[in-house]
Amino acid sequence: MGTKITRIHEVATEVQRALLLIISSTSDPQSQLERRAEELVSLVDTMGVVSEHVEYVTLRQPNSSTLIGSGKVGELTALIDELSVDLVIFEISLPPRIQRNLEQLWQCAVIDRDEVILQIFADRAQTKEAVLQVELARLEYSLPRLTRKWTHLSRQRGGMRGTRDAGETQLEMDRRQISDKILLLKSQLAKVVTQRAVQRSQRIESSIPVGAIVGYTNSGKSSLLNALTGAGVLVEDKLFATLDPTTRAVKLPGGEEILLSDTVGFVSDLPHTLVEAFKSTLEEAVHADFLIIVCDASSPDMIANYTTTVQVLEELGATDKPAIVLANKIDKMEDGFGVSRLRSLYSPVIESSIVTSEGLDTLVEEIATLLKRLRPLSTYHIPTDRHDLVAHLHRWGQVQHIEYQEDVIIVTARIDGRYQGPLLEYLHA
Ligand code: GDP
Ligand code: MG
Repeated sequence: MGTKITRIHEVATEVQRALLLIISSTSDPQSQLERRAEELVSLVDTMGVVSEHVEYVTLRQPNSSTLIGSGKVGELTALIDELSVDLVIFEISLPPRIQRNLEQLWQCAVIDRDEVILQIFADRAQTKEAVLQVELARLEYSLPRLTRKWTHLSRQRGGMRGTRDAGETQLEMDRRQISDKILLLKSQLAKVVTQRAVQRSQRIESSIPVGAIVGYTNSGKSSLLNALTGAGVLVEDKLFATLDPTTRAVKLPGGEEILLSDTVGFVSDLPHTLVEAFKSTLEEAVHADFLIIVCDASSPDMIANYTTTVQVLEELGATDKPAIVLANKIDKMEDGFGVSRLRSLYSPVIESSIVTSEGLDTLVEEIATLLKRLRPLSTYHIPTDRHDLVAHLHRWGQVQHIEYQEDVIIVTARIDGRYQGPLLEYLHA
């Protein structure tokens, strides 16, 4: 009985709760602060941590040891106690020394926005390259922070509290080990990049079209995936036992099955040390058959964000695939100027709202149209002794009609160009 209670308690405390701090100067407009807060809440949520409270701190003069000054530190100590949060998250990058001092004063983990982003990348990294790239960014981040007592990023090693009381020699050793590891990772990465082309061809194993949902954090990507899969269109998950948690199978009204992947969101002001790690986590988008680019139409930064998204996709070589652009959150939109601008850059743009479900039907129709373009309906005249080709069409395509004639099998089907090779000579004009 006693053990049971303890277990429940342990499970309950596994979800960490955080106090979020938005640090601003006196001249920052309120609306901008709110956007920064919203983005951080969204990032923290993606990390699986509950945002208990958001506190705005106006900074007139940065304090060299605590940034926010002793008065504010004291106020926040009381707040941390009252809320009994597990960690404090700053919306800015914190110098290691200040981070260390605040952890000492508050006796809890203090992390910054970079660390949140790193954690999200680490959770999402899937390809070999992404795993190495994120590990590299993580080690480079931790190198100047070795003396920290609380390490949030070492979650997988269990516990929040670092156990080591770092002496100078130990510290030197750790530093050298990490530097060596960084060198090793860099050489491994160089190899992986040259192998990338090979991996890419091995990955094409499913005949089901894959769509990647891309866009900024907080634009509504995860909500969209949930809305599309939650409306009774979810395909039996067991069929796709190997799917990673951010990919779902969806059946369109016309019966076509597709896979949709949620990707790591873009963030504003991505620290330059994390750019490579971010791009590597987007590799999945590069392998998708089509893209859904989600924009937040209620944000004044929508056009700039869309432009950045397209630029990064271009750098990754992912702009050759068909894309659908969503102007989401139109229920919160103030005027239509942003969407008009977006339309002048890309067409068509679908206006949508996850809250009112507006535009979701149009999106689903657009996906179906796009799939038809990717896999046009064709008719094949297959010799009766080539049943293997009929089987091939069933396995890799969608057969709409079969007619067995005396000397020929007439099949009407859709199949991806990648699988059409053996059928080409039987294609009927
Ligand atoms: P992601 O970071 O792109 O995955 O964004 P989320 O799906 O987590 O959504 C971020 C926030 O925006 C959440 O609080 C959602 O409830 C909210 N949201 C998403 N779509 C809409 C929408 O169409 N309208 C409004 N008003 N809020 C939305
Ligand atoms: Mg999300």
